[in-house]
Parts: sequence; structure tokens; C-alpha cells
Amino acid sequence: MTKIPFNKPYFSGNELNYIKHAIDSCKISGGGEFTKKCQCYFEKKYGFQKTLLTTSCTDALEMCAMLADIKEGDEVIMPSYTFVSTALAFVRQGANIIFVDSREDHPGMNENSIRQLITSKTRAIVPVHYAGVACDMDLILGVSNEYNILVIEDAAQAIDSYYKGTPLGGIGDLSAFSFHETKNISSGEGGLLTINNEKFNKRGEIIWEKGTNRAEFFRGEVNKYGWVDIGSSFLPSEIISAYLYAQLENLERIQKKRKLLWSIYYSELEKLKIEGKVRLPIIPAYATNNAHMFYIVLNSMEERTNLINLLKKNSVLAVSHYLSLHDSKYYQNKYNGPDLPNAKKYTNRLLRLPLYFELKERDVLYICSLVKKLFK
Ligand SMILES: *Cc1c(COP(=O)(O)O)cnc(C)c1O
Repeated sequence: MTKIPFNKPYFSGNELNYIKHAIDSCKISGGGEFTKKCQCYFEKKYGFQKTLLTTSCTDALEMCAMLADIKEGDEVIMPSYTFVSTALAFVRQGANIIFVDSREDHPGMNENSIRQLITSKTRAIVPVHYAGVACDMDLILGVSNEYNILVIEDAAQAIDSYYKGTPLGGIGDLSAFSFHETKNISSGEGGLLTINNEKFNKRGEIIWEKGTNRAEFFRGEVNKYGWVDIGSSFLPSEIISAYLYAQLENLERIQKKRKLLWSIYYSELEKLKIEGKVRLPIIPAYATNNAHMFYIVLNSMEERTNLINLLKKNSVLAVSHYLSLHDSKYYQNKYNGPDLPNAKKYTNRLLRLPLYFELKERDVLYICSLVKKLFK
């Protein structure tokens, strides 16, 4: 049996042609033709007001924290069951993170428990669209509008996914996408900041360009550029954007295949779900599925370990996901909130199954037969 890895990055072949084009045109630093093409793609297809390509989603989140002007002692609300970067970007600015538990039925944050966590120090709410499935944004915006708090979407996994018809990443004041190799569309490392609140447009460009007003200069709006604010080197080289553009051109093809594989997983494992042996992803009526991930939730950590081992013995690599951040080595001493039982449940019992473009339908059937075998 050939090995089935957990992930394999999609490759169209055109990446190399575009990289060659970038090299031939003698413009390989950031902000050139392919950076603009990628940004245009997102602005046209999803109607995002302004986008800036970044070297990672982590970087895009750092830009969000800088734009939000987060200061020592400010509070930022986010789920505990998420990737480190969601919190790290704000912790670097001195924020206290107020962690929210996951929903009972979904690893995403429990939108209903946000309101009670608001204090005079709350500056931002950071919903994470886990597995590309939208948080209930009306509930979140209801609170943020009432208290005049920023909403920053961690849309790392949420490309091409929607909430009540609006694309994710286009709802909060600011949003961050990831093109890490584990995501649906990838440039190895890469990310995108979307600015949906115009008041951040100008400063966003400055922070992106190392604290200079170079973007204005290139547009001919000023005749000199210089140091005007804080910032860093957030823009990727044209080599990375060229790679990314070749992937974006294939978005529909990639999504079609991922959704097909996802639905085979779901229908093959549905019987186990009905029997109460596993839980499967839930897509609320207000959300779409972008097939970023197929996960199952086992009834115990022991069962998950057994399944991982059974799959491994049969050459299939399946992996758990986040360790809750409030319970992490770095943050546990700083955390003085309540227990977060649902986050703990997903930390211990969620398992992600292989899902990537080249995976065959028969591979999914094979993986599902192994999962079923565990319960025989
Ligand atoms: C992947 C991911 C990130 C980090 O993205 P990078 O591009 O690797 O920096 C952040 N948040 C979430 C929820 C992610 O899934």
C-alpha cells in the first residue's frame, strides 16, 4: 500500500512559467505585476475594498494588531481553540487575551458568550472561521457595533467561503488569509490582509511598506517618500506572488475536487455519526463549506489515539489539531479565566483526515473503511 500523507500541496505547473516571467522582467521584489494581479483577483472576485498581499497570515494578523493600535493592557477576545498566530499578533502589542470556549457543536468560538466578556478595555474581537466554516457574524457584529469594538477576522482557512452570501474576510474591519502549504490555495508561505474599513487604507499601505509612504510616491501622489510611521517588511517578493497567481487561476478546479472528496467522506461516515460513534463537521444554514478540512470528533482521546495508530499501520497519516492556547506552556500562567471544556474536548478528540487535490476518491473510500474498522 502506498502511503497517504496528511497533506500534499497542489501544483498546477504554471507556477514555474510565472516565476520565470517575473525573473525575465527583472522585477522580483514586492509590489510588482503579480502582487497587483493577486490583489486585483481578490478585490474583483470577492469585492474586498482593499487588499495587501503579505508573507504570511501571521504577518497579516500582526498588521491588524498594529492598525488597531493595540496597546499594553488592551483586551482582545478570541477562541482558545485556534492557531498560535491568532493570539501572538496581539500579545506582541501587549494585549491581554480573553479566550472564549468553542461551541458545543463546532470547534469555532461560542458567539453567545462574547457579550459577557466585554469590558472598558476590550478593543477587538477576533473570530476564527474554523475549517472555513463561518462564525455567526450577525451575533458578533451585534456586540461589536453596540460597544464600538473592531472585528478582525482570522480567515486563514476561509478562502472562497461565505456567511449569508457575503465572502468571509469581507465582513470584519480587517481580515487575514493564509496561503501556507496546508491551505486550499498556497504559495508555501503567504498571506493576505483585507481592509474593509476605509479608515485603515492609508496607514495599512504605510505599515506594509516598512513605515514609509512609498505606495503614495509610486502613484505620484507625493514627490518624495520617507519614514512616516511604524511598519515592517510585510510584502512578499514577486516570486511568491507569481506562484500564488498560478494557484488562484485554478481556484475553481481545486475547490470542486476538494468538495467532492469532502462529500465522499461525509456520506461514507454518516452511518457512524447516526450511531453516535463519531461526530462530523456541521455547516450551519448561514455558512458555506469551502472543504478546507475534513475532521471527525471521537468520543474519547483514547479512541482517537487508537484510530491514529490503526490508520498509521495502514499507511494513512491523520493528525490532531490545536492544543488550546489558554492551556499552552506560554500562556497558562497568564490565563486566569474559567475552564473551557469544549476547547479541551476538541484538543483531545478531534482528528483531521487527509484532504488534498491529488487524493483519489478510492483513497477516501479506503480511509473510511479503516475508520469503520475501528468500530467493528
Ligand atoms: C494557518 C493559520 C494561521 C497562520 O497562517 P500562516 O500563513 O502560516 O502564518 C493563522 N490562523 C489560523 C486559524 C490558521 O489556520
